[in-house]
Amino acid sequence: MAIKGILFDLDGTVYLGEHEVPGAGEFVRKLKQNGIRSLFVTNRSNRSAEVVCEHLRGYGIECENDDIISTSDAAALYLKPSSYYAIGEKNLFDTLNRNGFTYDDKNPNYVIVSFDREFNYDKLKTAVGLIYKGAKFISTNPDHALKMYNDILPGTGAIVAAVEVGSGVKPITVGKPERIIFDIAIERMGVNRSEVIAVGDNLLTDIPAGAAAGIRTVLILSGMSKREDVAGSPVEPTWIVEDYKEFGDIITNIN
Ligand SMILES: [Mg+2]
Repeated sequence: MAIKGILFDLDGTVYLGEHEVPGAGEFVRKLKQNGIRSLFVTNRSNRSAEVVCEHLRGYGIECENDDIISTSDAAALYLKPSSYYAIGEKNLFDTLNRNGFTYDDKNPNYVIVSFDREFNYDKLKTAVGLIYKGAKFISTNPDHALKMYNDILPGTGAIVAAVEVGSGVKPITVGKPERIIFDIAIERMGVNRSEVIAVGDNLLTDIPAGAAAGIRTVLILSGMSKREDVAGSPVEPTWIVEDYKEFGDIITNIN
């Protein structure tokens, strides 16, 4: 079955901080020449599609806002527009408001928890209190940590864990490793699941999300996960590649 679409992870897959993963831009350009659509699906909630596209254009990748799906987009598209309280950064609030959601810190339908570098006890107290009152608890993603420049930063998962322990409620997660964000991406591409491959650098998020969505997966060894991690992983990728050259060979063989 020919491949018609590729779902790319971003951090560790297309770029590492400010640096392009070698060959990523050229690979995406070749896909386009061959009529294969690329979508970029990221667990990061705090960068807008405009900002991500600008970054990708720096690697010669043509980009429209619709080519980017962040966990802010996934939350806004998965949930029915309604009242919400959120822990997150500006792009999460902008995305929800643009999609018809209204901020309410008294009696909202949803409490949406994401990455927030200004997270504090008051926000935790509000989120936990609202969940106790019956608001539905949604998390964007469970990533424990993220690499930014030379730092390791506590990720969304660390904040979600605080709200989860405080409230005693488990969230619905829209980002990877759950399938919701991939379902949205596949629907946007309008192709069959057998015609889609997801590529990512993280065995704990990209690969299980692909498996849950019923699509084939490529682990690229350019970022987080190493070849020796695969044996201990609950879900194995369909293919493991060192670089974009090897990934290209796989697609050529299928098509
Ligand atoms: Mg990644």
